[in-house]
Amino acid sequence: MMKKFVYAFSEGNAKMRELLGGKGANLAEMTVLGLPVPQGFTITTEACTQYYEDDRQVSPEIEAEIFEHLAKLEELTGKKFGDPSNPLLVSVRSGARASMPGMMDTILNLGLNDQVVEGFAKLTNNERFAYDSYRRFIQMFSDVVMEVPKHQFEVIIDQMKEAKGVTLDTELDADDLKEMVVRFKAYYKEQKNEDFPQQPREQLMEAVKAVFRSWDNPRAIYYRRMNDIPSSWGTAVNVQTMVFGNTGNTSGTGVAFTRDPATGENRLFGEFLVNAQGEDVVAGVRTPQHIDELKDIMPDVYNQFCDVAHRLEQHYRDMQDMEFTIENGKLFMLQTRNGKRTAHAAIKIACDLVDEGMITPQEAVCMVEPKQLDSLLHPQFDQKALKAAKEIGVGLAASPGAACGKVVFTAEEATEEGKKGEAVILVRLETSPEDIEGMNHAKGILTVRGGMTSHAAVVARGMGTCCVSGCGDIVMHEAEGYFELGGRKISRGEYISLDGSTGKIYGEAIPTVAASVSGDFGRLMAWADEARQLKVYTNADTPKDAVQALSFGAEGIGLCRTEHMFFEGVRIKAVREMILSKAEEQRRVALAKLLPMQQGDFEAIYEAMQGHPVTIRFLDPPLHEFVPHTEAEIKELSEEMNISVEEIHNVIASLHEFNPMMGHRGCRLAVSYPEIAEMQTQAVINAAINVSRKHPEWKIVPEIMIPLVGEVKELAYVKSVVTKTADELIAQSGMELHYKVGTMIEIPRAAVTADEIAKEAEFFSFGTNDLTQMTFGFSRDDAGKFLNYYYDKKIYEFDPFAKLDQAGVGKLVEMACKLGRQTRPDIKLGICGEHGGDPSSVEFCHKVGLTYVSCSPFRVPIARLAAAQAAIKYPR
Ligand code: ADP
Ligand code: MG
Ligand code: MG
Repeated sequence: MMKKFVYAFSEGNAKMRELLGGKGANLAEMTVLGLPVPQGFTITTEACTQYYEDDRQVSPEIEAEIFEHLAKLEELTGKKFGDPSNPLLVSVRSGARASMPGMMDTILNLGLNDQVVEGFAKLTNNERFAYDSYRRFIQMFSDVVMEVPKHQFEVIIDQMKEAKGVTLDTELDADDLKEMVVRFKAYYKEQKNEDFPQQPREQLMEAVKAVFRSWDNPRAIYYRRMNDIPSSWGTAVNVQTMVFGNTGNTSGTGVAFTRDPATGENRLFGEFLVNAQGEDVVAGVRTPQHIDELKDIMPDVYNQFCDVAHRLEQHYRDMQDMEFTIENGKLFMLQTRNGKRTAHAAIKIACDLVDEGMITPQEAVCMVEPKQLDSLLHPQFDQKALKAAKEIGVGLAASPGAACGKVVFTAEEATEEGKKGEAVILVRLETSPEDIEGMNHAKGILTVRGGMTSHAAVVARGMGTCCVSGCGDIVMHEAEGYFELGGRKISRGEYISLDGSTGKIYGEAIPTVAASVSGDFGRLMAWADEARQLKVYTNADTPKDAVQALSFGAEGIGLCRTEHMFFEGVRIKAVREMILSKAEEQRRVALAKLLPMQQGDFEAIYEAMQGHPVTIRFLDPPLHEFVPHTEAEIKELSEEMNISVEEIHNVIASLHEFNPMMGHRGCRLAVSYPEIAEMQTQAVINAAINVSRKHPEWKIVPEIMIPLVGEVKELAYVKSVVTKTADELIAQSGMELHYKVGTMIEIPRAAVTADEIAKEAEFFSFGTNDLTQMTFGFSRDDAGKFLNYYYDKKIYEFDPFAKLDQAGVGKLVEMACKLGRQTRPDIKLGICGEHGGDPSSVEFCHKVGLTYVSCSPFRVPIARLAAAQAAIKYPR
């Protein structure tokens, strides 16, 4: 049987999301539910994939199928495509599997041309409306399909309004709009050297292709990379009978959520505009009215809409985000989907739905996106400083959180400064999909125009970025590099602060304070802990980090990097002394100075962790990282150590490596200078003994981790140094103390020979940062320079340092687990690379059966939730 590429709405349902895309599947589901949906059909995501396979052509078979369905739609509606006496007009709407807000563009009123518009005017007895629809179509079609710059259309509109002395679009009459159509078409011709397409069928096919093409535009690619959406999915295209919100004052269009997407509060929330079409609400051109006002203007429609909203929420058992249009007092539903929401709202809604008996706690756990928690874990404004601060203006509280940064006016600047690590606030008239990368790099977003459902608001909420929108009091002087607000003049580079929960804007920097896990957040995390099978540890080098991580629910330290302890004041001097030593004896003198300091650090960490496991990694970086860099430092050192400046220069030169990442580092240091490992062992064991004396109930079992092992014999050698030292100390203490020696698996050779390594190693911890760079053969410090080319060419779709490469690096991990267990069935397996806090990587770790994941303190709750979701999806 031939593959079916087109489905009428009445043929689909919500389960067919992969094939019909989210929008198409839900339009079908609403049709099945008997809700008022303008009818239409969906061209499948497979047709999109086919389009790319066929070298960006729509095959004749697919085209024929489209026109078959168009004919059926004509029959159903009793209208005819391109027939001036009774024309069928449609919208062409993209819709991928996962919702990608603002990523792809919709075309409305397709099917109009010079003749049809006249007929349409007669038929509707509304010339103004007919020409308004036509001019909108020309605008959208030119921009989205033909890539004619849209700006000039706005200029023409503004010129006409000015000539007439009016401010609103709605004040232009039929003759004005006719004139506008003439000017639009002239501009089109000037740009394209041909007339505006008059054949509806050609318009339709061009629009379909444009949607397919848009799947591959740079914003879509960037959004996919940010959200782990593979390019192979493709987008569907929905062709839907038009309904009109712009026929006059008994019509309108709007968007609404069944609950407040910012706070989660259970009440209808949304906006609408009278006498408007499509994107007018989201584009922020006019400031919309609150949905509650619809009650007064059109009470019947309002009541019907409330019923529909309630039904949809009950049906999907989740908060819905709906788009609707009212045509001459009749309600039509144009879209529904599970609404995007802030992390705060996501948690409240999940808990409320459990309390309302709609979902189970496990379903609640699966409903919150782990990455979103990030915004709750990061600082909020210091309340005292906030009270003392003076607000200079207020906008809409579009996406909560606290942001403080320097003002920039373009997305490019935001990206540039953000990459440098600068905190910036992006201030714009309004945002558009082109701005997405800059928005992602900004700490906060402030817009002059646009409501709660404007592009800026929706995207910011999705990213968990603070956003204040629609602050109409701002006077922008972008070209001059400043804006005015509340009597202040604020220039590019000056600090401002935004409160995304109140909409307040402050003309100064306000300090922030840490967040905590309590209330509904705590409830959700407790459900997650019940469900998960992976333990969640943290990477912490200091007692402060350890305490922070414990408060976020960490169950141990998976990675304590000892070298970070070597950089402070007196310590670095002792380290340098060690490095400059020519003989072992001298080196031992320097190490003896370090011992008490290192031991003290470990004691503090054991105290902080109160008996939870602590994995301590021995010295890892190449020694040259510790040598002095400036001449002044070198001179000081030479005086202190009584060595000539020249000699120090010689040592520094001798430590130079062509490729330090693969140089004299990790366990190689301990092989060359075993006394370093000896000192570190003493520090760990003494610390454990001392803390155990005070707290025998903690039953401390030190875990010593040897880095960068590639060959079992090198591990065996270093381990022998460790055990000899440790056993002596323990014997002297007269205490019973167990300890473990394990290794990191971060060199491919170690993964491949893990059965051998496990003979010596009592545990493995996958150091996936190094394992990734060694497997790919590129360093993570340099990869940024060329990975973009790889993304553009779709060779790689994501950064393997952020998200574990399961096909390659993951295969090594899986193999090492298997080999390790062969030798030592009860081997403890963990991961301590960046990936330990990345949800999709956590899922992988769950599947291969690791004991724990370890991540930075702020990602601990994210990992807990991701681990729970993995366990629910793939029980083991
Ligand atoms: P997006 O994915 O950007 O939200 P949509 O395809 O939902 O794009 O289209 C945007 C808006 O266009 C809709 O919210 C709706 O107001 C309007 N629209 C789309 N199709 C129709 C239609 N058939 N009739 C009337 N308005 C439509
Ligand atoms: Mg859109
Ligand atoms: Mg939409």
